[in-house]
Amino acid sequence: MRIVLFGAPGTGKGTQASILAERRNWRHISTGAMFREAIRARTPHGRMAQEYVRRGWLVPDEFARDLAEKALLEAGLDHFVLDGYPRTVAQAKWLSGFLEARNAPLDLVIAMELCINDIIERLSMRRMHRVTGEHYHLAFKPPPADIDPDLIVQRQDDRPDAIRNRIEGYWEATRPVVDYYREKGIIFDVDAGGTLEEVYTRIEDVLAKVSFGTQTV
Ligand code: ADP
Repeated sequence: MRIVLFGAPGTGKGTQASILAERRNWRHISTGAMFREAIRARTPHGRMAQEYVRRGWLVPDEFARDLAEKALLEAGLDHFVLDGYPRTVAQAKWLSGFLEARNAPLDLVIAMELCINDIIERLSMRRMHRVTGEHYHLAFKPPPADIDPDLIVQRQDDRPDAIRNRIEGYWEATRPVVDYYREKGIIFDVDAGGTLEEVYTRIEDVLAKVSFGTQTV
């Protein structure tokens, strides 16, 4: 299955994508994680992306595409879950062209929906392991007690100014991607509120319906 998990920042797409990938043995491709890794390793892509990511702005399409293309080719095109890509209509069009040219079109886009208050609460309570990149939530998924607290940090783009930029950028540049996939008839909405397992069960329900060909969710 070839899937995109789509949603505003803070809707939990990264968390759900990693659970899905682990339980189904699919590849998890997160352009955000790839940018953070590139920034940490100070690669040319990382140096270029640094200021955009820190401020919560979208990185220019051509750089995001480079990462996505490399990751897709490495992953193979049979089973993957894309998280954080595409984020603009131009990226979505490129992705369709890239996959269709390889006879591997997307099967499904899952749009995770969450109200703005919950988004802000989740982003401001989020923390990350400085080395592994693992994400935590101070209340719902606290960092294990045996981890050195100095390794648990707040992402620079989870500070209030950057959160504002990311949410604005989402509504301006990213949200139109929903209409693009709506026209293609491959997008399904999932309520992203509740516990990790509740949301995961809703995603599995969509996958089951799509696999059985009853695409009315
Ligand atoms: P979130 O979805 O919580 O905002 P991500 O980890 O997916 O976080 O992305 C973090 C940052 O990485 C984004 O704010 C943006 O700067 C950059 N980024 C990730 N994916 C893309 C993309 N497809 N296009 C442009 N910028 C991207």
